[in-house]
Amino acid sequence: MISLTRADWEQRAKNLKIEGRAFVHGEYRTAVSGDTFECISPVDGRVLGQVASCDLADAELAVADARATFESGVWSRMAPAQRKRVMIRFADLMDAHAEELALLETLDMGKPISDSLGVDVPGASRAIRWSGEAVDKIYDEVAATPHDELGLVTREPVGVVAAIVPWNFPMIMTCWKLGPALSTGNSVIVKPSEKSPLTALRLAQLALEAGIPAGVLNVLPGYGHTVGKALALHMDVDTLVFTGSTKIAKQLMIYAGESNMKRVWLEAGGKSANIVFADAPDLKAAAEAAAAAICFNQGEMCTAGSRLLVERSIKDQFMPMVVEAMQGWKAGHALDPDTKVGALVDAGHLNAVLGYIDAGHKDQAKLLCGGKRTLEETGGMYVEPTIFDDAHNAMRIAQEEIFGPVLTVIAFDSTEEAIQIANDSIYGLAAAIWTSNLSKAHLAAKALRVGSMWVNQYDGGDMTAPFGGYKQSGNGRDKSLHAFDKYTEIKATWIKL
Ligand code: NAD
Repeated sequence: MISLTRADWEQRAKNLKIEGRAFVHGEYRTAVSGDTFECISPVDGRVLGQVASCDLADAELAVADARATFESGVWSRMAPAQRKRVMIRFADLMDAHAEELALLETLDMGKPISDSLGVDVPGASRAIRWSGEAVDKIYDEVAATPHDELGLVTREPVGVVAAIVPWNFPMIMTCWKLGPALSTGNSVIVKPSEKSPLTALRLAQLALEAGIPAGVLNVLPGYGHTVGKALALHMDVDTLVFTGSTKIAKQLMIYAGESNMKRVWLEAGGKSANIVFADAPDLKAAAEAAAAAICFNQGEMCTAGSRLLVERSIKDQFMPMVVEAMQGWKAGHALDPDTKVGALVDAGHLNAVLGYIDAGHKDQAKLLCGGKRTLEETGGMYVEPTIFDDAHNAMRIAQEEIFGPVLTVIAFDSTEEAIQIANDSIYGLAAAIWTSNLSKAHLAAKALRVGSMWVNQYDGGDMTAPFGGYKQSGNGRDKSLHAFDKYTEIKATWIKL
C-alpha cells in the first residue's frame, strides 16, 4: 500500500467518487432546501464536489428517523453479542476500504496521505472494533440490599445521540463517538465539520453494508450555525457529544440549557506544555519528540505540544537540537508519500496561523526557524514549521490555541516554576515531562491539571485508556470503557421479594 507514488495517488484522486449528499435512513439524499456548498481541497485548491448544506429541516427529519429507529428496537434491543458482530464487520469494511478512505481524508482536509493511511484509518477502525468487542463483556450490578429486596443497577442506551465533530481528525473523532454510541444501542446523527464532511458520509454507507440498520446512523453535512445549532437545540436529542473548539463547546452548553437539558459531553481545545528538565534521560529523544509534537498533523492537534518549557541550564544546548529535529518536518504536497507536514485545512485557517506568527513577532519573541507560507505554487495551504524562542507565558502565542505548526518556547528555573507556567492556561488537556527523577515525575504528574500526562514520551495513547480534558478543555472522556458512560443512562430497579 505504502509503495504508491504521488502520481498514483493523483491518478486515483481523479477517479475518486465524491459523495456529498446527506445520509438519512440508509440512503443518500439532497438537503431539503436543495442547497449545497463547494468542497475545496486545501491540498491544491481544487473543487472536489458539492456538499449538501443541511439545516433545521434536515435535522427534524434525521432526528425523527433516529428516534423511530431507536424505538423500533431493531438495533437498541439487539443482543449485545450480535451488535458486536456487526461492529466488527463495520471495522473490517473500513480496513478493506483503507486506501479510498485515506484519499478522501487527505483531499478533504490536507493531512499527509501516509498519515491518513497509517494513522487515521487504522485508528478509526480500531475505535469501532474495540468498542464493539467490549460490549458483550460489560456486566450490570446488583445492589447490596436487605434479604427481601433485589436492587438492580442497569445501563440503558440514552436514545438519540447527536455527534458534532471537527475537521482535524475527521474519521478518528467520528469513530471515537460512533464506537461506544452504536455499540451500546443508540441511534446517532453525525454532523461533520463543513470543512471535512467526506469520510463521515462514506462511513455511513459502510456501516449500512456491515448490517447497521437504516436510521441508526444518519450523517448531516452542513454548517455549525445551521444544522449544528438545530441539533444542539433539538428537543428530541437526548445526548450531544462534541469535539471542537472551547468557544463552540460553551455555546452548546447554552443551547442545551435553552432546550431540553440534553446531556452535553465536550472535548475541546488545548495548549499543552511539554516540559524538559535538565535531568531528562535523553535530550535528543526529547528534542525529536518536541518537533513531532508540534508538526504532526500540521500542528492541527488538540494535544499539540505547543508550549515547550525548557530548564534554563540546558536551553542553549537543547534548542539547536530541536531546530535540527524540525528540519525533518518540512511541508510537502499532501499526496506525496514522503510528506510529513501537509496542508492546513483552508485559506481562512492559514491566515489565522500566519496572524499568530505576526503576533509572535510583535511581542518580540525570537524566530528560530520557519515563519512563512510555503509551496504557494501548488495552490495549497502550506506553512513552514515555526519556532519562537524567548517567549513568556502571557504572550498570545503562549495562551491561545494556534492549531498550526508554531512552537512557543519558554525558559524556567525550577520545578515549581515549570508547573506554575504549565498550569497557567485556561486549558487542561495534556502535558509531558522529561526527567530521570522518579519522584519528580510523579509529583509533577499529580500537580499538572490535565487529562493526559506523559513522562519521557509525547502523545502516547490507545483505545484502552480514556482521553479528555480538565478545565476548559472539556468534560467526560472518549476512548476506553469510561466513554460508555456518555452513551448510557443508569437505572435502579427495586424488587420486593
Ligand atoms: P469548531 O468548534 O469550530 O467546530 C467543531 C464543530 O462544531 C464543527 O462541526 C462545526 O461545524 C460545529 N459548530 C460550529 N458552530 C456551531 C454552532 N453554533 N452550533 C453547533 N455546532 C457548531 O472546531 P474546529 O475548528 O472544527 O476544530 C478544531 C478544534 O477542535 C480545536 O479547538 C481543537 O483543539 C479541538 N479538538 C479537540 C479534541 C479533543 O479531543 N479535546 C480533538 C480534536 C480537536
